Amino acid sequence: MSKVSQHIIDGLIWQNADGNWCKKCPSCNREIVGKDGSVTTKFNVSHSIIKGKLCHSCIKVGKPTWSSLNREEFGQRISGKNHPFYGKHHTNEFKEWQRNRRMGTQLNGETKKKLSVSVKNAMHRPDVRKKHIEALHQSKWLKVRTDKGQLELLSKWNNLGFKFEPNYQVHTDKALFYVDGYDKEHNVVMEYDSKYHNKTHQKQKDLARQQIVIDILQPKKFWRYDSVNGSFMECISQKNKKTATVVAERKG
Ligand SMILES: [Zn+2]
Repeated sequence: MSKVSQHIIDGLIWQNADGNWCKKCPSCNREIVGKDGSVTTKFNVSHSIIKGKLCHSCIKVGKPTWSSLNREEFGQRISGKNHPFYGKHHTNEFKEWQRNRRMGTQLNGETKKKLSVSVKNAMHRPDVRKKHIEALHQSKWLKVRTDKGQLELLSKWNNLGFKFEPNYQVHTDKALFYVDGYDKEHNVVMEYDSKYHNKTHQKQKDLARQQIVIDILQPKKFWRYDSVNGSFMECISQKNKKTATVVAERKG
């Protein structure tokens, strides 16, 4: 009699309701179900009994855990030129396969929650945030919407000798944002406020941003153009270079 048949008769291997072959871990006695990729056929399961193979948890016992290893050293050891994939590229077929692989599948609620929490936690770490912002900064895919009126206004001023660049990127380690127009040479900032900037909530946001921009760029002038009533406001009071909190009076 073959070893497989003997194992079946002895009840050492059996098929569960799904038709997968199972055995018990010789160490913890837990049921191990053969799944695609690992132990699948009755021959495999039978062979793993002869070899005395343990379950995934029992294999790890007594071995160093990932967290106990020197992660930094490991990271350096396989980074850059030492990385096995250094200089290599995935083929288009592989990329296509990878894209299709998870298409249409959905994560369950718990996994989503876990992911969300871990991303949020990570983004609070200064080093992660810095990396993220630098990546965004370098991304050529990032497109920023421009207002039609914003571009017209800037070109009007540029005809007068200014050199406003639309959507000028300002970035710190903690944040990345755009000013609607920046003239590097004259060091002048122009913000174009469309209708929604008049909401109280948005105004507060704008003021906070404005102060950050002033702190970073140290502009000579910071102009806000209110597109609703067509008025300009100078936001830097010359005495203390702080954001002027007085909002320009409405015309009419
Ligand atoms: Zn076990």
